[in-house]
Amino acid sequence: MKAIPYGRQHITQLDIDAVVETLQSDFLTQGPKIAEFENNFAKYIGCKYAVAVANGTAALHLCAMAMNVQKGDKVITTPITFAASANCIEYCGGEAVFADINSNTYLLDINKVRALLEAAPKGTYKGIIPVDFAGAAINLEELKKLADEFELWIIEDACHAPGGFFIDNKGTKQLCGNGQFADVAIFSFHPVKHIATGEGGMITTNSKEIYDKLCLLRTHGITKTPELLQENHGGWYYEMQALGYNYRMCDMQAALGITQLQRADDGLQKRKQIAKIYDEAFASNKNIEIPIYNNGHAFHLYIIKVKDRLGLYNYLRAKNIFAQVHYIPVHTMPYYQHKGYKKGDYPIAEKYYEACLSIPMYPTLTNEEQQYVITCINEFV
Ligand SMILES: *Cc1c(COP(=O)(O)O)cnc(C)c1O
Repeated sequence: MKAIPYGRQHITQLDIDAVVETLQSDFLTQGPKIAEFENNFAKYIGCKYAVAVANGTAALHLCAMAMNVQKGDKVITTPITFAASANCIEYCGGEAVFADINSNTYLLDINKVRALLEAAPKGTYKGIIPVDFAGAAINLEELKKLADEFELWIIEDACHAPGGFFIDNKGTKQLCGNGQFADVAIFSFHPVKHIATGEGGMITTNSKEIYDKLCLLRTHGITKTPELLQENHGGWYYEMQALGYNYRMCDMQAALGITQLQRADDGLQKRKQIAKIYDEAFASNKNIEIPIYNNGHAFHLYIIKVKDRLGLYNYLRAKNIFAQVHYIPVHTMPYYQHKGYKKGDYPIAEKYYEACLSIPMYPTLTNEEQQYVITCINEFV
């Protein structure tokens, strides 16, 4: 059996042709493929604006800048996420503050967030960065109510959940990143995510003002738009109006993103089928805890919990199955420990970390491969 990773990209001839065609075109960057990908993505997610960027981390950084995070600003996020969700606040001189997770959903616990907010003078916290962890959409309607009460903004980290959704109070389906409740949302197109462009990211929003800001910051803070210029010396003239970055995506990546996006729903359906097969295969093994989820789960990850996680991890590795752990709690990282966090601060997240294991989950996982994974896991546990 060849190596089976926990996640991987799916590249077809259509993808390859799209990239080659772009390589042969006039624009390798800042060309028409960027706007096309942005428009298609906005349509898919159901929001007004999308801004393509170099990667998901750059997307988070630009969002933190667009929310005007300043030195000393406190922002709340979850310890069970990729470090970048918290780091974007630190890039701007702010302070990432964690709130523990819910032990059933593994998502940021809204009650814990409320407790933090109520314990501090109003205005202490500026925003919240919830994560649609593993593909489970967090209930942003509830979180938005809380955010409004304390005058906070929301950056939704939807890297795990393109196509994921929750059902709001009125029974309406709310897709992750659609901008109905969060000010901005971000996605990543790293090859283990649903849509792969190598490196790549996207920001979505319904606010024209935020959209304009993001476009400026993505390209050095430079604009050439005549209406926005303070002076105008001629056709060559541009102004750098803010300290921005070069966080652009290139056209080959956008071309790949366009064709990948066309298959996004097929991939999502396949992920759901794989999840169902795992559910059934492990249902009778009382030593394996399977995830609790609803229809809107996008299954970036399928996470089981077992007592001897290290043993299972090593056993699977010997069988050429490369499971992974998502995540080592961010507050236990040496960088955050230097800032004063310590083990024991977020016991639910830490307990979750002791047992969690992400097993292979990607659309091209064959039935034969999945059965092999299941057999190996049930053999060990
Ligand atoms: C992948 C990921 C990121 C970062 O995206 P990159 O494109 O790798 O920079 C941020 N947050 C979460 C939850 C992620 O999974």
